[in-house]
Amino acid sequence: MEKSGSLADCDFSVSDVVTAFKCPLQFYFSRKGIVAHFYYGGKSVGSFVHKVLSEFANLLVTHTLFESENELNVVENTLYRSFYNVAIKSKSYRTNLEDAWQYIKSIGAYFEGITVGKSTSEIRDMFILSERSFSVNFFGTQICGRFDLLLRDERKIRIVDYKTRDRDPEVDAVQIALYKYAVKQITGVDAEPVLLYILDGELKEEVFTEEEYSLVISGIRKQIKDMKDFLSGRKVPERTVDRTLCNHCSLRTSCKVLRKKFFGL
Ligand code: SF4
Repeated sequence: MEKSGSLADCDFSVSDVVTAFKCPLQFYFSRKGIVAHFYYGGKSVGSFVHKVLSEFANLLVTHTLFESENELNVVENTLYRSFYNVAIKSKSYRTNLEDAWQYIKSIGAYFEGITVGKSTSEIRDMFILSERSFSVNFFGTQICGRFDLLLRDERKIRIVDYKTRDRDPEVDAVQIALYKYAVKQITGVDAEPVLLYILDGELKEEVFTEEEYSLVISGIRKQIKDMKDFLSGRKVPERTVDRTLCNHCSLRTSCKVLRKKFFGL
């Protein structure tokens, strides 16, 4: 796999672009040094689950855990061990481990489904990148981000992004489209983007078509132009069109004052 660009060159992160899609104003404030983010319930479970899955991919690829080439239950055993390691190391006192285990069990079943009949080394070969940072040139703008997981299945590369919250298809499509673009830049391969929503122990898979991908990429190009215009003062960033988002925004009590201060609105 080729190396991606340096993270120091980054103009925008994937998360900047996603934020600008949700609320251009919040993106603007965050780039002006104001701490701004959306918060949702279950964040500590989500980040714990991400840590376990990252540990899982690392253990699978880098450790000699398995006695035999065709050891049974490789995926299940590695997940158990990863869960245990992270629970011991991370001191996640606020994480409900029972809830977290439900998520891990669901994703374990998904991994078992796609690795069925494969040998240990074939399974190892599938997990090609986990929690890896990248920086790529997106039509003249350097974008940086982090993959949850890249899976190689025969000739295909599957980009897997885990979500432990409700579906938000339009915004999630932006993130996964940028990952797909990055994989093409880094590896030259057209990857298949997959979002895995793990909610209440139930797993839903969402795959995007090429047509949807092309449309989303055009939307991202337009959004990035707007983001540059906001920062250079050529355009005033609007508030989110979905005002219910304001209930989850860290700026909900200061937004009005900040708009007055920055734009006199
Ligand atoms: S309070 Fe609403 S409009 Fe203001 S920055 Fe947050 S999400 Fe955007």
